[in-house]
Amino acid sequence: MLSASFALFGSKSSVLHIFSVSNMRYISTRGQSPALGFSDAVATGLAPDGGLYLPEMLPSFSASDLGRFATLSYPELCFEFLSRFATDIPAGTLRTLVAKSYTTFAHADIAPVVKLDDLTYVLELFHGPTLAFKDFALQLLGNLYGHQCAVRGQTINVLGATSGDTGSAAIHGLLGKPGVAIFIAYPDGRTSPLQERQMACTGADNVHALAIDGTFDDAQAALKELFADQEFRTRHRLSAVNSINLARILAQCVYYLWAYLRLPAGVREEIEWVVPTGNFGNVLAGWLLQKMSVPLRGFRVATNQNDILHRLFTTGDYRVASVTPSLAPSMDIQVSSNFERFLYYSVGQNPAKVRDIMATFKTTGAYTFAGFDPDSFTASRCADVEIPSLIRTVYQDYGYIADPHTACGFKSLAKSRPSIVLATASPAKFPDTIVSAIGMEPTAPSLEALKKKTLVKHKLPADAASIRAYVDRYAV
Ligand SMILES: *Cc1c(COP(=O)(O)O)cnc(C)c1O
Repeated sequence: MLSASFALFGSKSSVLHIFSVSNMRYISTRGQSPALGFSDAVATGLAPDGGLYLPEMLPSFSASDLGRFATLSYPELCFEFLSRFATDIPAGTLRTLVAKSYTTFAHADIAPVVKLDDLTYVLELFHGPTLAFKDFALQLLGNLYGHQCAVRGQTINVLGATSGDTGSAAIHGLLGKPGVAIFIAYPDGRTSPLQERQMACTGADNVHALAIDGTFDDAQAALKELFADQEFRTRHRLSAVNSINLARILAQCVYYLWAYLRLPAGVREEIEWVVPTGNFGNVLAGWLLQKMSVPLRGFRVATNQNDILHRLFTTGDYRVASVTPSLAPSMDIQVSSNFERFLYYSVGQNPAKVRDIMATFKTTGAYTFAGFDPDSFTASRCADVEIPSLIRTVYQDYGYIADPHTACGFKSLAKSRPSIVLATASPAKFPDTIVSAIGMEPTAPSLEALKKKTLVKHKLPADAASIRAYVDRYAV
């Protein structure tokens, strides 16, 4: 006994290692919810105090860690990274879940780095099943949910409203998972035909595509009512899929690390990471990785005309405005929910300050930061009329086809230092815009296959009672 414990404490590094591996806890940005382990934080989503979960302590990756990571495959790298965070899942299980999550990707590199010229690179994040970057997180989240159901011997019912990308990525994450059913409400006739097919042509019994007779806001309002009903929520073990889930952010850190390791030495330390942004989830992941000592130099937040983040990072004024639909619809947001995680760090990890600022923002729709420090962020804004011409220019200059979201990143590319633009969706998802820009229709094999499949959707009126009755009938 004595010698065993002596051996354990004999080496400082093994003590630290054991401590960090067994004890990663997650705290709320608002400081009024208990800290949770990884699996509970993932299952909870939004903290009960309204805050977002963050690791209590960020790990630090050393130069020798990075050296060791350089030869790993994408799933191996993802496992190495997540094992620092998912400390309550046995390593063997985590490795399997991660490996499974990336078998659904159509490219051998999972996230290929494409060189356009000496100063310009693209990180393609659209080789997953729904051809948008959300697959990186939602394939993993689906497997984590499936695992949790198996461990706890419980079923869960996932309910969400979507205007397109998130719903289809969530559906493809949960497709065919035992013990899980997913109900996605979308405005009938108002998503793109391809997006609807991605949701309604899966052929899976546990997927329910609910075509709501109304707008996205109607669908959202009906769901909000259902989530507010505690009895209904508990009885069906309802879970939401939203962009603030901790697991989504962590899964997204991995492709920054992967791309960093693939870029040439000398370029990777200097390069600016250009990220088409809406909810601030994608770019936040890169910034967190920088805080873990991976030397990423800086980030450009690339917005479309819905530019709350551009205004924030250029003026320090965080202010709600109405949403104007654009050609890059997945960035059409009013507020950037993940901003609260950045805020937490920028106010010196002080939850009381976060609560103050968020309360002011909620009641007045604005918060102005005096002496705002943008940290490593710069910002750009792309007006809607500029999107087709940017797609055309990129095509002429590099022979590369950028989707409308990615195109926003090509606005004001630096000429004096290298840039890597994160390509968040495949151009094949937006054929109309691409055709109008370059007169050519991009295709993707998975989308062609979809066109031949049977579409199964359930039309429902836009009220909570109808959705409730449907869920009561088909919940697992
Ligand atoms: C969701 C999405 C975005 C915005 O991502 P955030 O994490 O909300 O910043 C950008 N492009 C595409 C194609 C998306 O689906």
